[in-house]
Amino acid sequence: MKVVDLKSFGRTEDSEPPRKRTFILLLLVTCVVMVGLSFFLWWVPYVGLANIHASLPWVLAFLLGFGVLFCLGGALTLLMTIVRGKNLFFNRKIRGVVIRILFPLLVGVGRCFGLSKDEIRRSFVAINNRLVFAESKKVRPERLLILLPHCLQNHECGIRITGDVAKCKGCGKCKIKDLSELSRRHGVSISVATGGTLARRIVIEKKPDMIIAVACERDLTSGIQDSYPIPVFGILNHRPFGPCFDTDVDLTMVETALASFLYDEADHSERSGPRDSHDGGAPKRVSGPTS
Ligand code: SF4
Repeated sequence: MKVVDLKSFGRTEDSEPPRKRTFILLLLVTCVVMVGLSFFLWWVPYVGLANIHASLPWVLAFLLGFGVLFCLGGALTLLMTIVRGKNLFFNRKIRGVVIRILFPLLVGVGRCFGLSKDEIRRSFVAINNRLVFAESKKVRPERLLILLPHCLQNHECGIRITGDVAKCKGCGKCKIKDLSELSRRHGVSISVATGGTLARRIVIEKKPDMIIAVACERDLTSGIQDSYPIPVFGILNHRPFGPCFDTDVDLTMVETALASFLYDEADHSERSGPRDSHDGGAPKRVSGPTS
């Protein structure tokens, strides 16, 4: 199997490469703005607060300083995790902060600098992948879901594969054939969704511990946000005929993601043989949410 550098995930031939530096730059700008704003918030009352009580300005300075240091510490931890590609102490919580708080904030900051939403989304997907990879989570095949967009199916195909990809006749006109075979070979679940609502329903029904999702920037971003805390590894689709029409995906990327996240029983039993009495022989599992 062709080896793909995991750092290149999320990159497509017909779209700009995801740039982690966009995200990092926006993060740094946000930190600078935050420090400036905090100083301003301190300085303005300082003029007036001193008239109420001499120590009030310093109490406020201490509180704001603590808040700033806390946020800067969080940003530094995030940067270290992104740069090292390894889990630090609370990677899962950091992923939540990035998904829930930082991304909407950075979209606003990015817009002020004239960056397009898709550029920020590509960067967000790349950072999310890096954090998911840093978690080093391994799942059993039955707990992994491959989620595909409907636009991967050839537009001339009359078979309704939504809900049951196994109905694909394997004519080879689109990658559904290869992806269906891939899922059978690895014993993982595979589904095709026509939109966000169906995708959410599939995730609720299947309750996977890990998702490998293929989609465009917008759908991947909302899918990653909606599925949290389930880790979603995003692979951007190729759109040679424009959006939502006969799209394509790099199969090697899907295969490499599967190899990275699937729990290898044979490999594990080999490695854990003599250590069974110490570690119990099974990987630690983080149970996924119900929605
Ligand atoms: S590979 Fe399957 S889904 Fe794609 S066109 Fe052929 S039968 Fe339809």
